[in-house]
Amino acid sequence: MNVHDSEKISGILGREGYCAAGSPRDSDLIILNTCSIRHKAEQKFFSRLGRIKALKKKNPNLRIAVAGCIAQQKANEILRRAPYVDFVFGPQNIHLLGELLGGAARVANDENPLIAEMDLPVSRKSGGRAWVSIMYGCNNFCSYCIVPYTRGRERSRPLSNILREITELAREGYKEVTLLGQNVNSYRSDVSFEELLRSVNDIHGIERIRFVTSHPRDLSASLIDAISSLDKVCEHFHLPLQSGSTRILGLMNRGYSYDEYRWKIDKLRDSVAGISITTDIITGFPGERDDDHRLTVEALKSLGYDGIFAFKFSPREGTEASRFDAQVPNTLKSERISEILEVQDNITLKLNKGLEGSVQEVLVEGSDETNGKMLNGRTRSNKVVNFRGISPAGSILSVRIIRARKHSLDGEML
Ligand code: SAM
Ligand code: SF4
Repeated sequence: MNVHDSEKISGILGREGYCAAGSPRDSDLIILNTCSIRHKAEQKFFSRLGRIKALKKKNPNLRIAVAGCIAQQKANEILRRAPYVDFVFGPQNIHLLGELLGGAARVANDENPLIAEMDLPVSRKSGGRAWVSIMYGCNNFCSYCIVPYTRGRERSRPLSNILREITELAREGYKEVTLLGQNVNSYRSDVSFEELLRSVNDIHGIERIRFVTSHPRDLSASLIDAISSLDKVCEHFHLPLQSGSTRILGLMNRGYSYDEYRWKIDKLRDSVAGISITTDIITGFPGERDDDHRLTVEALKSLGYDGIFAFKFSPREGTEASRFDAQVPNTLKSERISEILEVQDNITLKLNKGLEGSVQEVLVEGSDETNGKMLNGRTRSNKVVNFRGISPAGSILSVRIIRARKHSLDGEML
């Protein structure tokens, strides 16, 4: 989502007459688009900001701005710790960038109830595939998560605006779109998410449709049926579990039990042949005991994900879980995440090995920077494939898988 916000920031800068500089040293404007989902991202941001300060001494015309969720949450702290920052603006106020460049204000972080109706120019650099916002914000208030506080209330973009953007993308040669939102299956404008998918499926020129992220609680049987019947919707589903322990899921305020989640995965596998499923896991949530951790490890073994993103719980200021007693010590979080990653690596490798010898449809995303003859792309099931060949980004090729690795596949072009 932040990558796509950066594409919008670039789009506005292009409209304002800016062009990309080769490096920060050659820039007259530097905008850091920040993430505050975990503490580590915040630490990295402040250290980067400190390093950029020196550039301002060399180039007094340089302007520095901070965008994104840290700007939203900590505008005053940023301006106090780094008075050389010219202005800050949160993720709901990207549309104001032109005015901020003109010196209109130093802080723009008001709630923006009209965000879903505002279509911003987008400057995309991704070959062949495009991110498309379908909704903004989140109303779920999972107890660990900062997003509802920084990105505001959930708002769905009107169907006609989404279809107009995707039709234009198809005309420009894009083959794949990823519909973006914190909770896409609660999309509701004049139509439901199922109806939105049907309309996108009808757009000539678009060959692949993906979407992130779905919330397990809002994944209905009718959505699963729609997905299985639409030919362009890819056979990949990212469905964040977070924990295999129903007790912890309750403390997280996720709104489903492990058994309910499991039922939906079974239904997905029954309905969509060859579907790959990935997830997010948080380890070391406050109060997580050894038996809860074991349940998560057992869930990974039994659900057989194609891949996971695993995170150590990071207390975020202002969220409910940051105030919970029984915070788990960092050493224990590290032990648990290592076990989780090791168990999952073996599962992923085993599933990937099952693809050796198969022929996959691959959409080319680009070529290896060091070796221009090596292409990379993705299967419909979202596996990264590297193979020898020359073909522009966006082409769709048949590739035989010759070797499975943990995080990618090696192939040969047919
Ligand atoms: N809306 C999506 C959802 O509910 O699954 C994604 C939200 S978040 C941007 C992506 C992932 O970051 C979450 O699924 C969760 O695993 C992780 N995450 C969020 N807050 C966290 C925290 N405080 N500590 C560790 N991981 C966190
Ligand atoms: Fe955060 Fe939960 Fe909303 Fe996802 S659904 S963005 S984890 S509050």
